[in-house]
Amino acid sequence: MKFTHRIPSRIFAVLALLAVMAVSVLQAQPPIQPTTDITKVPPAAQPGSTFNADAATDAYMSMIPAAAKARSDAYFEGGYWLILWDFLYASVLYLILLQTGLSAKMRDFAVRLTRFRWIQIMIYMAEFMLITTLLGFPLEFYENFVREHKYGLATQTLGPWLGDEGKAFLVNLVMAAIFVPLLFLIVRKYKRTWWIWGSIASFVITVIAVAIGPVFLQPIFNKVERLNDPKITAPILRLAHANGIPTNDVWQIDASKQTNRMSANVSGFANTMRITLNDNLLRRGSPEEIQAVMGHEMGHYVLNHVVKELIFLIIVIFASFAYLYWGLGWALSRWGDRWKVHEVSDPAVLPLVFLMSGILFFVLTPINNTEIRSQEKEADMFGLNAARQPDGFAQAAIHLGEYRKMHPGPVEEWIFFDHPSGYNRIHSAMVWKGENRQLFEPALKPATP
Ligand SMILES: [Zn+2]
Repeated sequence: MKFTHRIPSRIFAVLALLAVMAVSVLQAQPPIQPTTDITKVPPAAQPGSTFNADAATDAYMSMIPAAAKARSDAYFEGGYWLILWDFLYASVLYLILLQTGLSAKMRDFAVRLTRFRWIQIMIYMAEFMLITTLLGFPLEFYENFVREHKYGLATQTLGPWLGDEGKAFLVNLVMAAIFVPLLFLIVRKYKRTWWIWGSIASFVITVIAVAIGPVFLQPIFNKVERLNDPKITAPILRLAHANGIPTNDVWQIDASKQTNRMSANVSGFANTMRITLNDNLLRRGSPEEIQAVMGHEMGHYVLNHVVKELIFLIIVIFASFAYLYWGLGWALSRWGDRWKVHEVSDPAVLPLVFLMSGILFFVLTPINNTEIRSQEKEADMFGLNAARQPDGFAQAAIHLGEYRKMHPGPVEEWIFFDHPSGYNRIHSAMVWKGENRQLFEPALKPATP
């Protein structure tokens, strides 16, 4: 265990250096404040006989200051590279654990401590998570602290941020302590069919995590409470009831504790299903914008997106396990002697599992994004029809453009976007507005007898 002894002191030296860098970055980059009042519908987007969706979209796009656009483009494009760096960094880390024999030593250490297999796996798991978290920390720190501050998106100082990181680590550790030994038990018991039973167990655990997440996990990090302002909740609940959503509550989350981003979401299902707005949206969004966003979120519910997402997940999980069944066997037969790992049921195989899963998910990035993006597009269209707030919807697209590139090329959007781009969202809203002119021009309303 010599190697692990020396790591922490080095890591802390690096951390101290990064903290100094972070402080200088924080001072250097104040967030860009919005300069235009985006709640004023621009002339080219006003209803009328000459209304043109392309021109209306351009009018909204030109409300975004050039400096803000440059900043969000740079932020989002930097994210493309981070997908690659995250993947490469983690892969190298896992390869080091295998190639240096460290993974095997970590297992031997656990075996010396106890003869109970279940506990051996838990100890190995704790060692593995500790070492990967420490070694992965510099990139994590840059990506989620330094960079978020640099672009004016983060609101947390170092202490609370580290607190959240610590909590996330403990939550992951507890979940892994239950889940990983269970999987190893399955692998040991069903030598040829473990990938089938492992898939089923993984799916069941995912369903449980999705169901309990908003109720039990979210409150560990944020305060989630019922929204009590009837001025905001009344139109939202009317919209919900008109679309067959049997809820009498809207929830709010104090996301401003961590970030300036505006968002809302639908989470859980059955009894734990809920609509949550973040407080940035409540504070900065106009009533039209909030209704437009809520229409979108209700679309996720009415169109059963949580269930569809789980069905997609079943396919991904089964495919991943089949790939691991084949890939782990292949890699261990080639390099098992060198790594001192010979069985898939040996906990020391975990770096290889993560390495191979990382490769698969890296390759699947566009497929995964496209699957989510098509649901988001559906929810957009549902939301426009339900809330009838195309201008509020355009405002939301501009606000979300603070951290997403507004107008990417089609291939770029296909690979990297898990939501339609801001430009496409405004364009959809303006096409919808053009096709529903009777709602905005009293003269076009059908005469009532
Ligand atoms: Zn959505």
